[in-house]
Amino acid sequence: MIKLRKKNYAANLYRIFLICMAGIFLLFACRVHSRSEVTPVSVGQTILMSEEYTPGTVFDRNGEVIAAGDSGELCWSTEETRDAFLQVLGPDIHSTLLSGTTILGNCAWVFGTEDNRWGIYSLLHPAAGKIGGSVKLTLDRRLQEYAAQLVRQNGHEEAYIIVSDYKTGEILAAYGDVFGESMHPGSTMKPILAATALSLNPELEDYVYDCVPENHIFQIENGAVEINCAENMFHGELSMENAIAYSCNGYFISLMQKADHAKMLEALKKWGFDTSISYEQFMYWDHSFIKNSRSETDYLMAAIGQANAYMTPAGLHFCTNVLLNHGKLAEPVLYSGKQSSPGSPWKTIEAGEAKEVCGSEAADKVAGMMELVTEIGTGTSFYLPGFAAKTGTAQKEDEDGNLTGLCTVWTTGGLTDENTPYAVTVCLDDVDEYVGSAAAGKMAQSILIYMTEGGE
Ligand SMILES: [Zn+2]
Repeated sequence: MIKLRKKNYAANLYRIFLICMAGIFLLFACRVHSRSEVTPVSVGQTILMSEEYTPGTVFDRNGEVIAAGDSGELCWSTEETRDAFLQVLGPDIHSTLLSGTTILGNCAWVFGTEDNRWGIYSLLHPAAGKIGGSVKLTLDRRLQEYAAQLVRQNGHEEAYIIVSDYKTGEILAAYGDVFGESMHPGSTMKPILAATALSLNPELEDYVYDCVPENHIFQIENGAVEINCAENMFHGELSMENAIAYSCNGYFISLMQKADHAKMLEALKKWGFDTSISYEQFMYWDHSFIKNSRSETDYLMAAIGQANAYMTPAGLHFCTNVLLNHGKLAEPVLYSGKQSSPGSPWKTIEAGEAKEVCGSEAADKVAGMMELVTEIGTGTSFYLPGFAAKTGTAQKEDEDGNLTGLCTVWTTGGLTDENTPYAVTVCLDDVDEYVGSAAAGKMAQSILIYMTEGGE
């Protein structure tokens, strides 16, 4: 205790006041210095609430519980459910809030942010614990667990799978960091370019390219570049549909040279390339085609999904949905129902309007060409009736641009029968060259068989 002598009472009080002011000023200076003063209040509040509240329940599309709050924690239904959903659900709110690429990062109400302690329910249940709201996902728990099991069976470490209904936009399964990880799309870029080129100029459908050695030298402003087909194959004379079926690099590079560069780049923005697109329920890293490069070599290499062409598995999947859905993208959604807090009514969440990305005739033509991939082309080993698909392989380089011998392999596609409007994209990253894109295709085929033969 500070003993205040009566004589100096006022002066001592003034000194204590000054010391307190200096303390407050110092504390503020420290916060500015450490940048902690810029933390938005809402984020801090959410984090605090997540510590105070027991989370609500996460249901799948059929009402099955994926995870539910229990004495302050979010607990998984089973260990298998945890393995399948951990990445996409993102239950650690400290690291996923505002990330935009996980489900719970976008559903903060599960952690209690929308609980109204003055609501009728709370007033009638004054002793009720603090419990967050609940969410109903569009994901199918069993399908998601099946996808995770498929990855384990095939022994892959870096695998990404996304499945959706291309007519409604509902995402049915999302395994791995499908919204966050970008990779070279390789030849899966070709159907997108075909549909874009046909949208701009329908006559290009008749474009023919002769895949012979001399036609693999491409003249550019400052010289020439040689770009070969995979395994230095020569496909001979090809129409557009055969170029897609057999995945001819030369065809698409010469098509891109023939097309109006500026118009192509502008039209590619509608698909999300070199621009910014985000959706109501999540974000994903927008895909790039040439970025800011003005190099013609980069433009030509992007035609085969290399150089500056990058996509997330989700980004590529939505482009495939456009092709299967007559040129329109049904807005992708991850959840369809929301309950702000226990006892409050469930609210149905409607998806936004479908968006036109390319002409319907162009999309339908290219979807038909993609059916040839599994009928006669690079995807015969995973044929299914009406499975329109495209394979892709991209070689991985190290930081200095040297080939590492590892690849990213893809298959993206879906069933053209509109009674089973399912699209699936499988990506295996950092795999050895011999693995090949058909490995991803066979996993996609297994998923479609599982869905159509009563798995879902
Ligand atoms: Zn070729």
